[in-house]
Amino acid sequence: MKEYPKIAEAPHFQELINSAHNIVIISHTNPDGDAMGSVTGMKNFLTLTGRSVSIVLPDIFPEYLSFLDNDKSILVYESEMEKSVNVLKSADLIIALDFNQLKRAETLEKHVVDSSAKKILIDHHPDPQKDVFDLVISDTFVSSTSEIIYRLVRTLIGYDEKIDLKVAEPLYVGMMTDTNNFSNSADSATFAMASDLLFAGVDKENLQHLVFGGFSEKRMRLMGHILLNKMVILEKFNAGYITLTLDEQKKFDFSEGDSEGFVNLPLNIKGVNISALFTEKKEHVRVSLRSVNDFSVNRLARLHFNGGGHERASGGKLFMNIADAGSFFEKSLEMSFNHCINSDNIK
Ligand code: 5GP
Ligand code: MN
Repeated sequence: MKEYPKIAEAPHFQELINSAHNIVIISHTNPDGDAMGSVTGMKNFLTLTGRSVSIVLPDIFPEYLSFLDNDKSILVYESEMEKSVNVLKSADLIIALDFNQLKRAETLEKHVVDSSAKKILIDHHPDPQKDVFDLVISDTFVSSTSEIIYRLVRTLIGYDEKIDLKVAEPLYVGMMTDTNNFSNSADSATFAMASDLLFAGVDKENLQHLVFGGFSEKRMRLMGHILLNKMVILEKFNAGYITLTLDEQKKFDFSEGDSEGFVNLPLNIKGVNISALFTEKKEHVRVSLRSVNDFSVNRLARLHFNGGGHERASGGKLFMNIADAGSFFEKSLEMSFNHCINSDNIK
């Protein structure tokens, strides 16, 4: 089994855990596989060491990831506000996972800031917020927060012991989803860690089926509709985008998670390197951005879409009519490409 450099902050992490009685783990809005894998993997790891741990998420997680909430104990602030606030109030240690800035936890932000609990942040996004946390474990070179937690677990338990399956499974899901099934940003280290998790007993076919298969019929029909009628290709920019309106969501009985992976669809077309998905919400348009070359969607998200993320996978929000999102995207690309041409000229 490959051994990794130890997580230098592990003793400080252990110290904070040892002096905590009520631990609460939180993550970002629209929790994805890495958010869900990190929070449940961490919870199960700490629970196995005899700790009392709760998870509070700002909003609902997709149905296809609900198997990770194996004891059905995750609290969702949006629908269980009073309970969530009480749990956060009683926390003496808050562990924030898979986001860099507290504002990404939206409704939870003020409760975390106001809390006198000790605070830990573990994440892989650029520019982690340092001011409110007692300990920050940040590595922007790894593909998922689950990888950092894997290394933390290995640092704490050593390399001789098998990782418990209750910890291995969620961490595998985090690695698998943030790398889009080990195809993006997965390097030899990712595969070595995943291999160790398989050794722990992870059933990869089953997890693959639960996460990437097993979709509802309505989701497949919606995908068909989108591919046929809604995908727009912008040849000039080697880009593509999809818009999903509230009307369409109603028509296809949309539920959270049904559009998972849709943003990658245009990237299957030869020559398309940049892709966007615009999902109409009641008060804004949710934006998902992906690239498969050196084009930084993080920069695009920060400059034009009130968001951020990774170089090749980012997101944000637009406050405009969804009918205008496509032309806005086109303009943002025009500006980015002009910027690149101008910077090349300067060189
Ligand atoms: P997704 O497209 O899967 O919703 O998000 C992809 C990545 O973009 C996430 O892992 C996260 O890093 C980032 N992201 C998504 N939405 C936002 C947002 O509203 N603000 C920021 N700063 N990052 C976001
Ligand atoms: Mn992540």
